[in-house]
Amino acid sequence: HAKKTGRNRLAEYVPEMTLRTQRRIRLERELRRALESGGLEVHYQPQFDCGTEQLVGAEALMRWRHPEQGFISPAEFIPVAEDSGLIVALGEWVLLQACTEAARWMRMAEEAGIPPPSIAVNVSARQLREKGFLDVVLRTLAATGLPAMQLELELTESMLMEDVESAVQFMREARGKGVRLSIDDFGTGYSSLAYLQRFPINQLKIDRSFTCSLPDDGTTIVSAVISLARDFQLAVVAEGVESREQLEWLRRAGCTYAQGYLLGKPMPPEALRQLIEAQRQPVH
Ligand code: C2E
Ligand code: MG
Ligand code: MG
Ligand code: MG
Repeated sequence: HAKKTGRNRLAEYVPEMTLRTQRRIRLERELRRALESGGLEVHYQPQFDCGTEQLVGAEALMRWRHPEQGFISPAEFIPVAEDSGLIVALGEWVLLQACTEAARWMRMAEEAGIPPPSIAVNVSARQLREKGFLDVVLRTLAATGLPAMQLELELTESMLMEDVESAVQFMREARGKGVRLSIDDFGTGYSSLAYLQRFPINQLKIDRSFTCSLPDDGTTIVSAVISLARDFQLAVVAEGVESREQLEWLRRAGCTYAQGYLLGKPMPPEALRQLIEAQRQPVH
């Protein structure tokens, strides 16, 4: 009897795999076309100082408007792009868009007499493995005129743990050029504290899964990350801040920056520029 169930389960499993594979192959082809024909966009989610609630920067997040299926989440298409290697081209495209936009923010901020907002760009494991990745970053900075200090690359624990030696070398070189580095989704991976000490990073980003349960739950973990960051002299960004209560708790706990729907969703470039304009000091 058990055997029969096993066989039936296998029979259901195989066509399902095939469908999934077919969908992935199709997505990959359409994604490539989207990259070539302007079907992709970059949205920007603002980041704020927890204390002053002033705009300090934004994270670039990729958006794909599929002609038939509508909006497709990066959570779905980034893994497809990783598997096919297309993420390298996509990543270069996002980096160029983001740095071009941030150079524009810099000019706007200068005119408005406010500090220039920084830009955070997500890096995939595959990009980090490419030998010439840092050169791509430096060439993009040179081409757009964005100072390295205003660019922050978001890396994850798991990608750094894939090959610690190469990752540390990349990070040292990038930092040497002035580029800032942060660890995204911090706390969800499994790097040890010993590695944290070896990684020349500037900032930790507390994963949304911890932020979302504040202030009733998760306070022990978030407090621990904040004090860890303080000891290592790192800034901390809380991701996924959705309520006033959470923001207030984070501010009191000593969190540096906040990002989340409460303060601003990812938005098209025009909307973020308006937000920068709104920060302009009133003329008396
Ligand atoms: P991530 O880098 O951790 O980005 C944060 C995600 O949380 C974003 O989802 C953002 O829209 C979402 N988020 C921000 N605040 C809130 C909130 O208050 N509540 C909720 N429920 N969600 C919030 P998104 O844009 O769907 O991106 C998902 C992931 O896809 C990103 O996670 C990142 O890992 C990846 N990704 C996005 N753009 C790129 C890219 O250009 N390159 C690479 N390599 N990965 C990207
Ligand atoms: Mg990120
Ligand atoms: Mg994150
Ligand atoms: Mg995340």
